[in-house]
Amino acid sequence: MIIDAHVHLLSPRTRRDPAESFAGEGRFLSVEMSRPDLRAVWNRASYENLIAEMDRDRVDRAVVFGFPWKSASRCDWDNEYAAECAHRSGGRLLWMAVFQPGMAAESVAGFKQFVNDPNFLGMKIKAQFQDHSLANIELWRPLLNEVGRANKHALIHVQQPISPANGNGPLEFLELMRAFPGLRTIAAHFGGMLGMYWSYPLARQALENVLFDTALGLTAGEVAAAYTNIGLTDRLVFGSDFPMHSPGKIIADLKRKLAPEQLDRVLGQNYVRAVARFNS
Ligand SMILES: [Zn+2]
Repeated sequence: MIIDAHVHLLSPRTRRDPAESFAGEGRFLSVEMSRPDLRAVWNRASYENLIAEMDRDRVDRAVVFGFPWKSASRCDWDNEYAAECAHRSGGRLLWMAVFQPGMAAESVAGFKQFVNDPNFLGMKIKAQFQDHSLANIELWRPLLNEVGRANKHALIHVQQPISPANGNGPLEFLELMRAFPGLRTIAAHFGGMLGMYWSYPLARQALENVLFDTALGLTAGEVAAAYTNIGLTDRLVFGSDFPMHSPGKIIADLKRKLAPEQLDRVLGQNYVRAVARFNS
């Protein structure tokens, strides 16, 4: 079974919103949503397009979530849409929620509302788009405590260390993990290469409950092979970052560099074992 653990869907309302309405978002999202060529990529993030790509690339299941908007309303629209798509898919999609952590009380209340949805897996974080640091532990504490209490997961964006300007790199992520050692977490984008430091007790202890997703457009296969050499095969889960990359592209990269038995674990078995089962 192939499970894509990292997929973005945007609410129809967000996809229709005029370019200028994104001016209050962070620098990255305001540019992405107002330049027509970039906007066209994100506007592909609909249920219909995703299912068509999954059919084409033979992806059986996916985990979907919205964008980390500064606007709490946009986060809500995406959460509603992700939940609705998971419901509509009849078991093919599960979903995670995105919140504005600066509004702790509202976000915790929102999280609690979702906890009993059988398709709900937890919370997606990309702090830099909301101008937050992962190392701001007290900001994240109310929400991450809820994630832990409900025995859900967090999927957290970790920036590659070669792009320091926006923060959210490996050091910030390590600090967050040290503060929440029991939190079941997937570190997106290979955790900003933190797996390469697995021999270092400092990293290994902080990453005890961490898996890594493979959402890296240029070198997913090479990095997955390196992680496998380090003994981390069972900590890798396939993620594409659709609509940024098509699932088929990342799968092809992984196929080129991993042995078939490793590939099966990364493409789906690890997710089922460590994160969540999908209904058949
Ligand atoms: Zn992503």
